[in-house]
Amino acid sequence: MFKWDVIVVGAGPAGSSAAYGLARQGLRVLMLEKARIPRYKPCGGGLSLKVRSALDYDFSSAVQDTIRQVSIAYGRERIRIESAEAYCVMRADFDALLAAQAVRAGAELRDACPVDGITLENDRAVVSAGGERLDAALLIGADGVNGGVRRAAGFPPHHRMGVAIEAELQVPSAALAEWRSVLHMDYGALSWGYGWIFPKADHLSVGVGALIRPGHKLDLQRELARYLSSEPSLSGAKPILTRGHRVPLGGQFAIYHRPHALLVGDAAGLADPFTAEGIYFAIRSGQIAAQEIGHARQRGDNDLSPYSRRINSEINADFRFGWWLTQVFYRMPRFSFRVFAHSASTQDGAKQLANGTLTYKRLLLRVAGNSLPSLVPR
Ligand SMILES: Cc1cc2nc3c(=O)[nH]c(=O)nc-3n(C[C@H](O)[C@H](O)[C@H](O)COP(=O)(O)OP(=O)(O)OC[C@H]3O[C@@H](n4cnc5c(N)ncnc54)[C@H](O)[C@@H]3O)c2cc1C
Repeated sequence: MFKWDVIVVGAGPAGSSAAYGLARQGLRVLMLEKARIPRYKPCGGGLSLKVRSALDYDFSSAVQDTIRQVSIAYGRERIRIESAEAYCVMRADFDALLAAQAVRAGAELRDACPVDGITLENDRAVVSAGGERLDAALLIGADGVNGGVRRAAGFPPHHRMGVAIEAELQVPSAALAEWRSVLHMDYGALSWGYGWIFPKADHLSVGVGALIRPGHKLDLQRELARYLSSEPSLSGAKPILTRGHRVPLGGQFAIYHRPHALLVGDAAGLADPFTAEGIYFAIRSGQIAAQEIGHARQRGDNDLSPYSRRINSEINADFRFGWWLTQVFYRMPRFSFRVFAHSASTQDGAKQLANGTLTYKRLLLRVAGNSLPSLVPR
């Protein structure tokens, strides 16, 4: 009846993962992307090992550096620990690779084609893009934190937000060598957030990000300038590009579907509340969306409520414990850093959390189990 079964708005990791999963089931999928691909995206481009496990294709051609160590700091106090393998990418390459996989699976991609009108009717979703009116049985909002699908489909505004800004820095070769294969995070860089240095093949991505707290002003340009000048290894660095945007944080049970629309990735608001890691959760939510759309078709109904249920149980349920950790850790970052620096089991837990083999809930239980006995008088 419709030319397309599903129209996906946005070809970031969430949209391309949804399109890939749907096209592989034989659905007719159209991806509409505002930017010309490859497009720059302000992002550290840090990928945890979870991403490798989630993708069933190779993305090594987009990897700029493979991470072997994590450096955790509170200002000048810092420790380096062996990390689970992780990866640094430039989002332009990584996202283009994911979009190409979706196309290879059978999806059609129209880039430089912003969606500028969205209507949800009783039996369909209708969008206008590139001067055309396009309709489909279902619309996926994968259009990021400021996406229009969320508004047009009547979803409430995002609940909790972080905001982050990043500079791509040309640095002397000694600085590049110092940070080769190391992810650096400094929890003393600013209140309720952290500064980072992520290595790329020929430069460093350096940024600061923090939780947005009502009533608290945050001048991230100034925080970034302060961080850059406080980090000795960055002296002589030249910013090539500085950009930022908001990061919508998950952890709140919500409904992510309508009869003819659903939200994935940042459009749904699914970044990790403690680290602001968003790429993995964008990919996962896109995959879950594709699976549940497939199941609805097999059942012969349009019931997308299993999608919302799975996002809440597989992502948000544990993020609620991530919020606990956020509240405790960022309220007293120096103390938290020192606990972390002196506890091999907490470091091990953080490593497992990053590679997806431990939950926030279990990490908190482990930290409590280690700390409480020491508070009990002997
Ligand atoms: C400074 C910074 C650093 C970060 N660092 C990391 C990190 O190191 N690791 C990590 O995991 N996460 C990181 N994040 C979070 C991560 O970038 C996001 O969570 C992730 O990009 C979400 O993917 P997505 O596909 O949902 O949305 P996006 O990547 O934002 O993709 C949305 C796409 O939709 C398109 N679009 C928007 N409107 C329209 C429209 N009207 N029509 C058509 N297309 C449209 C956009 O052009 C874009 O391509 C960082 C975020 C920031 C701000």
